[in-house]
Amino acid sequence: MTTPAFSMCVYCGSRPGVTPVYAQVAQRVGRWIGEHGGQLVYGGGNNGLMGLVAQSAQQAGARVVGIIPKALQTTENTRHACTELHVVETMHERKRMMAERADAFIALPGGIGTFEELFEVWTWRQLGYHDKPIGLLNTQGYYDGLIEFSRHSVSQGFLSDWQMDLVRIDTHPEDLLQALVQAAGWTPPAKLAGV
Ligand code: AMP
Repeated sequence: MTTPAFSMCVYCGSRPGVTPVYAQVAQRVGRWIGEHGGQLVYGGGNNGLMGLVAQSAQQAGARVVGIIPKALQTTENTRHACTELHVVETMHERKRMMAERADAFIALPGGIGTFEELFEVWTWRQLGYHDKPIGLLNTQGYYDGLIEFSRHSVSQGFLSDWQMDLVRIDTHPEDLLQALVQAAGWTPPAKLAGV
């Protein structure tokens, strides 16, 4: 078994959203991870964008590590086809394991679960609990409101610019993924690096 080039943790919606554009970016993210020899770490479900990322990654050759709490196995429709599936006792255990198994994090459009996961790794990073890169994929301006609110928080003295800078924001999935894995220490093949 070859060791994956990198391990990318993807946080995203357990629903598909109202426009197919969200599904398309989820598939692009999964495909990119697979095509670049990476490993996907995610919540282990088959629903919404989560399921699409996992299917696309696996089809493109990625190892897929799914981590799902016991109590959510039915509601989140466990993806038994994962290369590695962990059924854990609690949500805290899931999130800890996801964070430990990743070299970098990317949040796609999603709901409250995705927000919480993004904010958790962001706060952990600002506290120095880890130093892994974090990305926010702002597909079709989905996160504009959140970004604007965070800037408002800076203007009001509750957040610093350096804390804002801990999250890379981009609308282009492949560019963001590449920036994240490079920041995590991965060297892209020459053709990708433009050599
Ligand atoms: P959502 O973005 O709300 O569709 O949820 C995406 C994923 O986040 C799902 O797998 C949820 O189980 C997960 N999640 C993680 N932490 C939480 C939390 N505290 N509350 C709700 N969902 C969560």
